[in-house]
Amino acid sequence: MIFETHAHYDDEKFDEDRVELLSHLLKENNIGKIINVGASFRGCKESLKLAESYDNVYASLGIHPEEIEDFSEENLQWIKANASNPKVVAIGEIGLDYYWIKDEEGRKKQRIWFKKQLELAKEVKLPVIIHSRDAAEDTLNTIVEYNTEDNKGIIHCYSYSKEIALEYVKMGWFIGVGGVVTFKNAKKLVETVQAVPIENIVLETDCPYMAPVPHRGERNTSIYLKYVAEKIAELKNISIEDVERITYENALRIYSKVKER
Ligand SMILES: [Zn+2]
Repeated sequence: MIFETHAHYDDEKFDEDRVELLSHLLKENNIGKIINVGASFRGCKESLKLAESYDNVYASLGIHPEEIEDFSEENLQWIKANASNPKVVAIGEIGLDYYWIKDEEGRKKQRIWFKKQLELAKEVKLPVIIHSRDAAEDTLNTIVEYNTEDNKGIIHCYSYSKEIALEYVKMGWFIGVGGVVTFKNAKKLVETVQAVPIENIVLETDCPYMAPVPHRGERNTSIYLKYVAEKIAELKNISIEDVERITYENALRIYSKVKER
């Protein structure tokens, strides 16, 4: 069984077959648990609805750095109020994205909301899911400052060097690996997967985006995680079953509110 640690089934690209996927198709294709991750405030509400509708779906609540424009203290309070829901298992995705935002004012605003949401996670005792693009140094510095024995998370869609990945591993954090690892030009991520212990890797799609080869460019679903597991097995020289089992246990360790198998 595979633990899908990062999906966006609230996305409109799933409007046609969301019910079929979540009620049986994913299960029939070896997908055990699914974390649906909020990115916008609307996405958070939708994630919660999905988590409450399907047994094996859980929600992560948080505002993505590109979505903070309309975010407010009131929204933050809503997340806090819902964090105690048994199906809410993480805060995210939160973080820094300097790829699109080049001006210092915009980046500063991202850092403010990032820190506020990290503080919230600490307060409600939930792990975090980090989105970080073109912001390696600021992200690592913020996490080093935030990290404690009880406050860990996943660096989702990991895109930096293996050296930085090992800094996160040293702190007991997890590296999210998805479809990109199967791409021809994925040299950096391949090196990262080789360097990071399998005990610190979790499987994720970020679907509907980032479909792995041989479906690159198509709409992604958790069913395609088998190609990611296959690639990691090849890189680590272990069986696909071991990759699935160990990453499943890893996900249960970080998302500790998801208890049963
Ligand atoms: Zn995502």
